[in-house]
Amino acid sequence: MAKRQFKAESRRLMEMMINSIYTHKEVFLRELISNASDALDKLYFLSLEEGRTGVSREQMKIWLETDKSARTLTIRDNGCGMTKEALIDNLGTIARSGTLDFREEHKEADAEIIGQFGVGFYSAFMVSRKIEVRSRAFGAEEAWLWKSEGEDGYTLSPCQMEDHGTEVILHLNEDTEEEKYSQYLEQYTISSLVKKYSDYVRYPILMKMERSRPKEGVEGEYETVVEEETLNSMVPIWRKNKDQLTEADYNEFYKNKFFDFQDPLRVINTKVEGAVMYDALLYLPAGLPYNYYTKNFRKGLQLYCNGVLIMENCPDLLPDHFAFVKGIVDSPDFSLNISREMLQHDRQLKLIAKNIESKIRSELAKMMEKEREKYQDFFKNFGLQLKYGLYESFGARKEELKDLLLFHSLREDKPISFKEYREGMEEEQSYIYYACGETVERIKALPQADAIREKGLDILCMTDDVDEFAVKLLRDYDGKEFRSVSDSDLGLASEEEQAALEKKAEENKGLLEHMKKALEGKVEEVRLSSRLKSHPVCLVSDGALSLEMEQVLNAMPAEEKVKARRVLEVNGGHPVFEALVRMEEKEPETVDVWAGLLYDQAVLMAGMPLEDPAAFAGAVCGLMERLGS
Ligand code: ADP
Ligand code: MG
Repeated sequence: MAKRQFKAESRRLMEMMINSIYTHKEVFLRELISNASDALDKLYFLSLEEGRTGVSREQMKIWLETDKSARTLTIRDNGCGMTKEALIDNLGTIARSGTLDFREEHKEADAEIIGQFGVGFYSAFMVSRKIEVRSRAFGAEEAWLWKSEGEDGYTLSPCQMEDHGTEVILHLNEDTEEEKYSQYLEQYTISSLVKKYSDYVRYPILMKMERSRPKEGVEGEYETVVEEETLNSMVPIWRKNKDQLTEADYNEFYKNKFFDFQDPLRVINTKVEGAVMYDALLYLPAGLPYNYYTKNFRKGLQLYCNGVLIMENCPDLLPDHFAFVKGIVDSPDFSLNISREMLQHDRQLKLIAKNIESKIRSELAKMMEKEREKYQDFFKNFGLQLKYGLYESFGARKEELKDLLLFHSLREDKPISFKEYREGMEEEQSYIYYACGETVERIKALPQADAIREKGLDILCMTDDVDEFAVKLLRDYDGKEFRSVSDSDLGLASEEEQAALEKKAEENKGLLEHMKKALEGKVEEVRLSSRLKSHPVCLVSDGALSLEMEQVLNAMPAEEKVKARRVLEVNGGHPVFEALVRMEEKEPETVDVWAGLLYDQAVLMAGMPLEDPAAFAGAVCGLMERLGS
């Protein structure tokens, strides 16, 4: 029998394909099962078209069979089968898809047909040294055997088959150090691969499974039984009728699929038809994955094409700021064999990703409005991610993200959004005030917040490192600028107050300069404050870099340390200030000691460590001794 050659270009293509398209050898099974499923779809369609009887969907099946002694794995279907010509055309030419032709000829056929690329079949050569395909086309009398050992061509000969359909027999490679091909003879491996890739193929995938079970009537004894089992669940949950599904069904699916022990916080289920077509089933986890804020966490959704898994984790479907979302996307518009690199540039994928982003966003906004407590729970876990999203995009995402943020309000004593802050603003209030600190408690105690709070104005608490950076990127919300309570200008003092402050500063110029000199190297300036009420001093900064930002930046591994422009503000109405005025006249050397003490106090109140704790303790002791003597 003459050996037929693959078309010349086909041989090269085959080599390239085998080594490049598929990163995982195991996908060969998915490819062959998908072909069988396509063949069943075609048969069903053709029988409808031709008005043939005797073909019922219930009988359409895919069988898997392993034979350890022969080292073969067989994939069999009772689908449309192939004529001799079809075998030559479809299996003899790589990158030629009979299925694609079929699709084009029968545009009205069920859109769930999978193949279109014409290389899937050859992936079987990644695991086989020899492949035999026996096929009998529906309605044909004769059957044909196609045989190939890979690169050097194939042979065709007549054979016997009782029924229409195709049988692909893989003679598996010998095991090597790196690759144990015998695993594909194990029922466990095969059934897991079916679960992983082909669980939602619409026809039953059957295999004889050996199970051990208690022997009937005999206590403590087991017997091995072989039974044909259906390995796949066939209908994916996202394709089932929504009315027939309960929340528990969705939750169960989530927990099994994504290995979570908790029910998800929310399920988002969408179906989109039009320029892009897809089903998406998305979940917001109720808890923080243990590795979420680490490098090990990988964002992504599972990508399916008509129920067949293409990629277990497709990162391009999710923006970083929604990295916490889990779920699946199923779209008929992808080819199974599409590589990661190609997928990244796929227009379709980009469109879907964009749709998904806005869907998640609108669901979150809805939840924030209608189910505030639930949203707060969500925000506790993933709010940081949203803020990072805003910051890391250098503000490019700010329109999308700003209304999803919550910050603790000092006046309302609960988390609120910028919008809510804005709505609660006083008529004449010029700024949206915020304060940074480790905790809300710490912020409450900040002396520089006193005057603002006394006026009944609200302050947003920024307790995460990234907060102030994000707010600086936003600059304003709905026309109102953000202002830190430590900013040099709070826009609070009236003109008279301002004038009075300037007058007082002028009168005490000598004292303020003396203090500045005493604090040389620590602060750039000492000035009178309009923001203090009960405390004598506070530490603030001038310019774009705040003290908090300075600390955050300096905690990062960088050679150059940054320095905020520190200013000590003094409360001119405080008894301590009056005492300082007297000291300046009577014993100016004490002003040096007091200035140092007040500065250290301000540092502590700002939540920062003392530069020299021993000196501080010494100075306090000195004071005590003087008082006591
Ligand atoms: P694709 O599935 O993308 O078309 P494949 O390389 O997987 O490409 O298959 C090539 C062609 O071989 C298919 O298009 C189909 O026409 C034919 N074919 C493969 N497997 C079967 C099968 N089990 N039954 C009938 N035809 C098949
Ligand atoms: Mg295929």
